Amino acid sequence: MKKLMAANWKMFKTRSEAEETARTLLSKIDGKIPEDREVLVAAPFTSLCAVDSVFGGKPWFHLSGENMYPAEEGAFTGEISPHMLKDCGCGFCLAGHSERRHVMGETSEFVGEKVSFGLKSGLSMILCIGETIEERKAGKVQQVIDEQLEKGLADVPAQILPERIVVAYEPVWAIGTGEVAGPEEIVEAHTFVRKKLEKIFPEKFNEIRVLYGGSVKPGNCAEIITLDNVDGVLVGGASLDGESFSQIVLA
Ligand code: PEP
Repeated sequence: MKKLMAANWKMFKTRSEAEETARTLLSKIDGKIPEDREVLVAAPFTSLCAVDSVFGGKPWFHLSGENMYPAEEGAFTGEISPHMLKDCGCGFCLAGHSERRHVMGETSEFVGEKVSFGLKSGLSMILCIGETIEERKAGKVQQVIDEQLEKGLADVPAQILPERIVVAYEPVWAIGTGEVAGPEEIVEAHTFVRKKLEKIFPEKFNEIRVLYGGSVKPGNCAEIITLDNVDGVLVGGASLDGESFSQIVLA
């Protein structure tokens, strides 16, 4: 299973800035990426085509939407469909990022609708999960992860190709705070995720990638990436700079 080194550019970068970052990243990593790694960039909708034009055709590269609406088309002002993302070169889309859950108020049920509709539409989906600091302090980490996985994957067929689903464990308190989860916290959560995946996908659970996200930087990535059940990283802040993300990709 190849490790997935994923960037999330959130609501940053104009088209020309995105293109420049993509070019810097490509120049630093092309020809150097280990065989067992792949790179993914989730970019704002307006920059997807620009990023695709830089990386398009690289076999180790995946373009991703940051969000989508679970319908083919229709009267959903301000939303974007899986079909439109695919048209811009996307093979993936994020669902349930903590900012969507906690800033935009998306429920686990709605996230589940996005995951199943995205998969049906031919996208591969990255389901983001993770607890808040209050939930961690209340000893509810496993309860929260369990609920988010249960509802997020509720309508995914058991025979789905394992490479089409990625789970990103991102403790909310570690996102954008500089406070990375410790190795034990990461391994404990990822082991729990793997066991839950085994219940849902008894045959292929070991082939589903589980990423860690939350203040990953060039200086801590090498350690995180070798932890048990960590199959890659999802990086926000440190992915905005092409040089910095290239160090993470090659860490
Ligand atoms: C993220 O946006 O998914 C994320 C993990 O952000 P950061 O790396 O900045 O914590």
